[in-house]
Amino acid sequence: MTDSNKNWSIEDSLHTYQVKRWGEGYFGINPQGNLSVYPTKELNGPLIDVQAVIKEIKKEGLGFPAVIRFHDVLRSKVKNLNNTFSQTIKEANYKGDYYGVYPIKVNQLREVVEEITDIGRDFHYGLEAGSKPELLTVLAYNHNPNALTILNGYKDKEYMRLAMLGTQIGRNIVIVIEKFSEIYSVLEAAQEFNVTPIIGVRAKLSSKTSGKWSESSGDFAKFGLSITEIIELIELLKEKNKIDWLQLFHFHVGSQIPDIRAIKECLTEGARIFANLVQMDVPLKYIDVGGGVGINYDGTNSNCSSSTNYTLKDYIGDVIYIIKDVCNIHQIAHPHIVSETGRAIAAHHSCVITNVFGKVNLTRYKAIDTSKNPHDHHLLKNIKELYKDLNHSNYQDIYNDACVIKDEAIAAFKLGVVNLTQRSQIETLYWNICHQIINMTENEKYVPVEIKKLKSVLADKYLCNFSLFQSAPDAWAIGQILPVVPISYHNESPYIECTLADITCDSDGKINHFLGEDGHRSTLKIHDLKGKEEYYIGLFLTGAYQDTMGDMHNLFGRLNEFHVYADSDDPNGFYIEESIKGNSASDVLEIMQYNSKEMCKKVKNEVDQQIKAGKLKARIGVKLNDFYEACLNNYTYLGNS
Ligand SMILES: *Cc1c(COP(=O)(O)O)cnc(C)c1O
Repeated sequence: MTDSNKNWSIEDSLHTYQVKRWGEGYFGINPQGNLSVYPTKELNGPLIDVQAVIKEIKKEGLGFPAVIRFHDVLRSKVKNLNNTFSQTIKEANYKGDYYGVYPIKVNQLREVVEEITDIGRDFHYGLEAGSKPELLTVLAYNHNPNALTILNGYKDKEYMRLAMLGTQIGRNIVIVIEKFSEIYSVLEAAQEFNVTPIIGVRAKLSSKTSGKWSESSGDFAKFGLSITEIIELIELLKEKNKIDWLQLFHFHVGSQIPDIRAIKECLTEGARIFANLVQMDVPLKYIDVGGGVGINYDGTNSNCSSSTNYTLKDYIGDVIYIIKDVCNIHQIAHPHIVSETGRAIAAHHSCVITNVFGKVNLTRYKAIDTSKNPHDHHLLKNIKELYKDLNHSNYQDIYNDACVIKDEAIAAFKLGVVNLTQRSQIETLYWNICHQIINMTENEKYVPVEIKKLKSVLADKYLCNFSLFQSAPDAWAIGQILPVVPISYHNESPYIECTLADITCDSDGKINHFLGEDGHRSTLKIHDLKGKEEYYIGLFLTGAYQDTMGDMHNLFGRLNEFHVYADSDDPNGFYIEESIKGNSASDVLEIMQYNSKEMCKKVKNEVDQQIKAGKLKARIGVKLNDFYEACLNNYTYLGNS
């Protein structure tokens, strides 16, 4: 242990990485200093040491990066949502029931959907689909006779006919009308299959939400009917004597809604429309409040787009009490409540583990001779003086002057006035000045923006074996902050500041936005790699949208995946129920229309020609062919040897 570790405790680590806030009690650090999962949220309950899981994965012979799914967390989330709804319904003396549905677009993986429907059986918890492939899935997997199957998204005739098939096999299918003309294909398909469908209608609310998905609401939203269209729909159904088909009223105003006030406004508007429709003799039974419950990714508990200023419990309370109040005012019966909460169910259950395989720093602080030399070029002479003069009161001024000298030196180099050695000396001094300024301003309350930026640029880059585009697309596409935390060594001080770089050949493949004790930071506090043979970092809360939306930039494919359950009978406290091998190189190449057999043949031809020409020994040629073929069957990420 170095001196800096004496004053470092696990509590400090919990605070540095805000584990308690984003972890919601599911994550913590065990006394050995390893990040751990607490499936029951009890500190003295069952615990899964993530470092121990990593060890077991290595024993199985599969490499990193890897997705680890904690199925107990998923189950707990489903239970918690349903129990909180039913408790609050009781407390509020609300007369309707809760019928939740899980929107499978959030994470369509079969094992995830199976786990959710399994634990959801006790709660008549159903599924939601938004496309034909998703509909095919929910038809096969929503076995619960009491649960709902909600169908959203734009629908063609085939979609409608599949929905009728669902009704015929006994499912409680609700076809939500997203655009007016869909009603005609419902009428047509219902006649063709001779079934009485249940339909819903999605409204465009005028209330606006904040956050990255605010355009899902308002007059110009992509989905839903305007108030005028809804009234027309009702007239049409009444005219055709089919108004009893219309049983559900739906709105969905966006995902990751950070501000509870926006949610309250939408609920109030939605409930008002609902009540008015009932008073117009529409026999509505369900009010479907959509999704949108956000995740406190950055631990700030704020209304910033990576956070939420409310809890799930607050949200559920608002849903029930607002609907109840509006219904009481209008003196109508309390409807059953449906929610399509997705992100808040799936986000916590999975994480991505990557191994750090090195670090780079192009601007290393380096001792350099700064004594006066009569032969120095005047630019070098000047920057030496700046370096000597630098102090606490003039650093901003010196920084600006140093930047000018560096630019001039490069211009002079291009003109042949400054030579390569001189340029190197000037650049080194420039970076030394920058590093000194950063050290000087370390504990300062106010640091100018350009100096802050400098800090992120100068930080070490830890190279991580993963692709941001495959594993955390939202961190790239919309600047979503995800908790990034080292897996072990939490007994040591993470005194190094770094940013992370992935292995894609894309300058965007980096993470330089992190959570911190007082809000967002441009660098991550991390341990020194010295003396550590292996070092693992976890990207957490990736269970919603991330791993199913990732792409194959640079042909990095799907990750190895491990499904973990807590088990009190196991000496390690857990077991890996399933290992799913990630894509091999040939898997991803085949998606791009290549044929790996063909590729082997092509390489073999070249090898044969070299042998014929006497440039290669036949024995070596065979080895080369085998090696090429083996690589095609291997993982797309960096190997560990
Ligand atoms: C995406 C979506 C959801 C899920 O939203 P979350 O924010 O993940 O809870 C629910 N309903 C509809 C119609 C959606 O499009």
